[in-house]
Amino acid sequence: MNNRFESFRAASEHSPVLPSSSGGKVKLYFGADVFTRDRMREFISSDVLSRLFDDIDNGRTISRDIANTVAIGMRKWSMDAGATHYTHWFQPLTGGTAEKHDAFFTLNKEGGLMEEFTGDALYQQEPDASSFPSGGIRNTFEARGYSAWDPSSPVFLIGDTLCIPTVFVAYTGEALDYKTPLIRSTAALCKAAREVCQYFDRNVRHVYANLGWEQEYFLVDESLYASRPDLMLTGRTLLGHESAKNQQLEDHYFGAIPERVRFFMIDLEYEALRVGIPVRTRHNEVAPNQFEMAPIFEDVNLANDHNLLLMSIMERVSRKHHFRVLLHEKPFAGVNGSGKHCNWSLQTNTGINLLAPGKNPYQNLQFVTFLVNVLMAVYRFNGLLKASVSSATNEHRLGANEAPPAIISVFLGKQISEVLDKLEHASAEKGIIINAKKEMKLGVANIPEILLDNTDRNRTSPFAFTGNRFEFRAVGSSANCGAAMLALNAAVAEQLMCFKDEVEMRMSAGEPKERALFSVIKKYIVACKPVRFDGNGYSEEWKEEAARRGLDCETSVPLIFDRYLDGDVVKMFRTTGVLTRAELQSRCEVKWEMYSKKVQIESRVLGDLVINHVIPAAKRYQTMLLQNVLAVKQVFSADETASLNEQDYSIIRQIEHHAGAILAGVERMTAARHEANRQPDERSKAIAYHDNILPLMSEIRTHADALEMIVDDEMWTLPKYRELLFIH
Ligand code: ADP
Ligand code: MG
Repeated sequence: MNNRFESFRAASEHSPVLPSSSGGKVKLYFGADVFTRDRMREFISSDVLSRLFDDIDNGRTISRDIANTVAIGMRKWSMDAGATHYTHWFQPLTGGTAEKHDAFFTLNKEGGLMEEFTGDALYQQEPDASSFPSGGIRNTFEARGYSAWDPSSPVFLIGDTLCIPTVFVAYTGEALDYKTPLIRSTAALCKAAREVCQYFDRNVRHVYANLGWEQEYFLVDESLYASRPDLMLTGRTLLGHESAKNQQLEDHYFGAIPERVRFFMIDLEYEALRVGIPVRTRHNEVAPNQFEMAPIFEDVNLANDHNLLLMSIMERVSRKHHFRVLLHEKPFAGVNGSGKHCNWSLQTNTGINLLAPGKNPYQNLQFVTFLVNVLMAVYRFNGLLKASVSSATNEHRLGANEAPPAIISVFLGKQISEVLDKLEHASAEKGIIINAKKEMKLGVANIPEILLDNTDRNRTSPFAFTGNRFEFRAVGSSANCGAAMLALNAAVAEQLMCFKDEVEMRMSAGEPKERALFSVIKKYIVACKPVRFDGNGYSEEWKEEAARRGLDCETSVPLIFDRYLDGDVVKMFRTTGVLTRAELQSRCEVKWEMYSKKVQIESRVLGDLVINHVIPAAKRYQTMLLQNVLAVKQVFSADETASLNEQDYSIIRQIEHHAGAILAGVERMTAARHEANRQPDERSKAIAYHDNILPLMSEIRTHADALEMIVDDEMWTLPKYRELLFIH
């Protein structure tokens, strides 16, 4: 083994730390660290609890006196379980989660210690958060940001700390996080959906939006990770030649999970289940060293909290097993990137999944109504939905190998497409006499049977219907799903409002309800056709076809962010009450700023890597070859050396060529960075980073990767792809 491996820790025994007493019985520890409703009953009086639950379930603000009583119960429970601190846990726009811990004690008048946790502390905090990005919403006069309790997501314990899920808002009330608009969007969607449901079933009081995410990730041995400054500082490899073997054989997907990885997963699941994340599925993914974990779906706000929590638990648990988890969307070129498929559906309090074909014609018409409205929303806001999943990191995955294209379209599958085609051509007079007794004459009533063999799943579609839900696959593995979910929720909410308006207008003009519903559905089926695409999303033809259909085909992320400020998008977010224009503007500023910063860091790291690792290694090898040429010349005659040296000369020249190109490239890249930094605003800066720096980075990489193939393996200091991807 050469020097790259000096610190490599052979896959030693890292058995999981499951307590032996649990005997693998999930029941014994699921939710053990959560202040669940059941547990609340032990610590809080029943009259306070019934008011609390009633307020939570109806989306009302919790009054201060209730908060006080709840806080006392929370403190008691968490201190009994060993907690000493509490924190408001929030989701700033930088991504990830943020927390600031305070101890439960305070000083009393005599200067003695006193345990305390008041309703006020539970309710609201003012973290010194002036350095979180706000995109200009908070100027120096009003630099205060508040975190405020979200009672709909239960508090939980991490180690000695009670974590309280909170929203994070400016002094003036503007959202500075993902949770606030996500909650607003769910409220808007539930209201709009409930109203549309009244056409079909007056018993529907509430509609819930569900999210089931599938988290993909890579694992890398920690010592190899530590020898790759690019992985450590940017989360992805900025250079590295493809391994001769990668995923061609497709032998990793669903293969046996390597033992060391399995031990990691067992620990991870244990920790996740304790805080109430219902993780259920684990498997190998397509790329070597790539894996996936998925829970049972939950309410979208809770599911998103759980995803963020899982990501932080993954980081922690991976260290225990001497791994590092890579949540970046494209840690390695040439093999699959990682996404976070978001399975999304709508469900009523009466137990009906609005995106599943029903048991009778009425339920089926309801299903088609919601299906078609989702299609319309995705069609009208396809540019926004793309913006909601775009980032400097996901940019390397979207549109690249084995990832959804940078065009949002919907896959429906053959059967559902046929149903819509039939509906489109059905005659309004004859075809739609629907009531509970008569069968609908369109075959729609038969959907449940047909659907049983809905097997054609198109993996290339960014937004696919999968039988009883939509799967938004363009979301990135490191993202806060909230960004995508709030855009989708809001778009569908506004679409349902438009639908209701149109139906009402027809009804007030005298059309019977069924006919009015049917006419509008038919109109939508025709209108949203451009967004339906069941073919191969990776193909070149699709890009041309999508442009002809008028779908958003922009690929530059800084320009994609412009969609947030389109007139119809601003109006949609205003109508639904999800985000104001000022909030959208500030979000864009933050997105552009984050984009530039990420590319800037990558570009600097790449510069350092080639100057400190690649060029020195190449030069050392070149010197060795040159010395060898001289030595050969001394020993052999001129005639003999002429042919002998030919190959050495060629390699020496190649090294000279690539090293020279790298040095020149780094110089141009540095100048381009300076130029970009001089741009007057965040948007132009991000555009400059995208247009001028990314291409130089890939040019430099090409030369560095060529050198990797030439230089003596012994001399190469950076772990190679074949090591990063295959050692576990
Ligand atoms: P696949 O990889 O085939 O898409 P997985 O089992 O990996 O399937 O993940 C499916 C995800 O979809 C899980 O999180 C699951 O809970 C979720 N899911 C299943 N049914 C629904 C539904 N009706 N609404 C939302 N999510 C759902
Ligand atoms: Mg899936």
